[in-house]
Amino acid sequence: MSDDCIFCRIGRGDISTAFVAESERLVAFRDVDPQAPLHVLVIPRDHVDSLASAGDESLLGELLGMAARIARDEGYADGGYRVVVNTGSDGGQSVPHLHLHLLAGRHLSWPPG
Ligand code: 5GP
Ligand code: ZN
Repeated sequence: MSDDCIFCRIGRGDISTAFVAESERLVAFRDVDPQAPLHVLVIPRDHVDSLASAGDESLLGELLGMAARIARDEGYADGGYRVVVNTGSDGGQSVPHLHLHLLAGRHLSWPPG
């Protein structure tokens, strides 16, 4: 947990944020700068720097499971969606608290930039 980590603060409820979904260990909320009609971030409440330092594989399973449930609940299971975990500098990670991006609602090209 970190006082100055923005996602820790969101996870603790210090910053008023509507949760799309939540569980004991996770919260999901809409990205402030959405890159698709659905753009949700799924994070652990407790601080983890990135996927590279995530040691708890059951937590990683919960994160993926919540992303899939949100996609289904929002109606994107059939049309498809993308889950992205930017990791570290070359991976384009800008917030150093592990998060999954769930993107849906438009055709997403490949490869990413
Ligand atoms: P990254 O670049 O680390 O993979 O993704 C960080 C994401 O967090 C970006 O898409 C950015 O728009 C989003 N973001 C950064 N600060 C905030 C915030 O305070 N609230 C919300 N809802 N999203 C944020
Ligand atoms: Zn944090």
